[in-house]
Amino acid sequence: MTQSESASFEDKRTDGTYILEDTQSIIEQALQVLGYGREVYDLLKLPLRVLTVRFPVKMDDGTVKVFTGYRAQHNDSVGPTKGGIRLHPDLSQAEIEASAIWMSIRCGIADLPFGGGKGGIVCDPRDMSFAEIERVSRAYVRAISQIVGPAKDIPAPDVFSNSQNIAWMFDEYSHLRESDSPGFITGKPVILGGTRGRDGAAARGVAITIEESAKHRDIRLEGARVIVQGFGGIGSYIAKYLHDRGAKVVGVADAYGALYREDGLDVDELLERRDSFGTVTRLYRNVLSNKELLEMPCDVLIPAATGSQITEENASRIQASIIVEATNAPTTHDALDILTEREILVVPDVVSFSGDVIVSYFEWVQNNQGYYWEEPEVHSRLDSRVRTSFHRVYQTAVKYQVNMRVAAYIVGVQRLAEASRWRGWIS
Ligand code: GLU
Repeated sequence: MTQSESASFEDKRTDGTYILEDTQSIIEQALQVLGYGREVYDLLKLPLRVLTVRFPVKMDDGTVKVFTGYRAQHNDSVGPTKGGIRLHPDLSQAEIEASAIWMSIRCGIADLPFGGGKGGIVCDPRDMSFAEIERVSRAYVRAISQIVGPAKDIPAPDVFSNSQNIAWMFDEYSHLRESDSPGFITGKPVILGGTRGRDGAAARGVAITIEESAKHRDIRLEGARVIVQGFGGIGSYIAKYLHDRGAKVVGVADAYGALYREDGLDVDELLERRDSFGTVTRLYRNVLSNKELLEMPCDVLIPAATGSQITEENASRIQASIIVEATNAPTTHDALDILTEREILVVPDVVSFSGDVIVSYFEWVQNNQGYYWEEPEVHSRLDSRVRTSFHRVYQTAVKYQVNMRVAAYIVGVQRLAEASRWRGWIS
């Protein structure tokens, strides 16, 4: 990997139209398996509502810049919609629409009383001051306030947004409504009504999924050889969790390269030496490329970096028996066909990478009740929901003889179709 390729590793975006079409084709497959007709596909292939907003914001240098934002609500037949708000310069409407559909599937698998939503602001927070980001976050909430709310559509953090953006948005919304509305948004700091146990929830969900999938392949976690691609907030947590449970972390990668040691890496040492961007490989010699690492021998491979890492090109050389996705869409459609053919178990992102939204649900429940849980309670409820989600999808895959990605969509769309039928939206 060249320096410029590696530097763009974090930012690589998949084309929005392509991912939307890909998503629609899996919905189609899932509906076919279930025997639903065109009418249901028509209902579910796109969000019910997509609001595009443009809003002016005064920048620090006195100029005014007009920003574009989106909020998509896929389907609210089972309850309000739910999903994050991303801040990114390359956002497209198609990407937001596809992501809202993914959230519907995630919520269905985890049995949350939500449909999927997603929002975004086209901007690059890395080039903006703190004050500018605050003004953009607040202006975005004013622009979309009509269609969001604790019983309508509940936003959360996503790519390049964090608890500070969420706190500003919550404050803005409370001003607009002239009342404290913690249930309007999740991912808040604990002091403003956020839940304990949110940090690490997404990674914890992946780790629990790995435990469950290993059992299904008769792999003992103790001594199992694991490769984790990505050593940021998610990847490093997973590596540490598995290392502490006796797994042998043989490979890790960051944006600059990868390390592989057959007899296992010292994860604690790597964590100690890692900088605040999650970079560690630059400190070592004999570094492989990310691509090379993915093809090294292991029992469990965890792509936790960015999309489209396992493709038609390298799928036939993957040596893992289980792949557990820990980022959005790291395995392409074509790659999945090859891996399924080779009997490699691929656990899709919508199953394994749902810790965030599950914990967001807990936050919303606590806000509605005004009663707050201790961290161990959040963890144990999260763990049990993740385990149940895995089995729900695994059994569906066995029942219909399909891969776990199609099975996940079967679970997700079936719930929306049933609720829509009860409501009289479809025949
Ligand atoms: N980033 C998550 C998503 O939208 C957040 C979901 C949530 O917590 O509601 O995928």
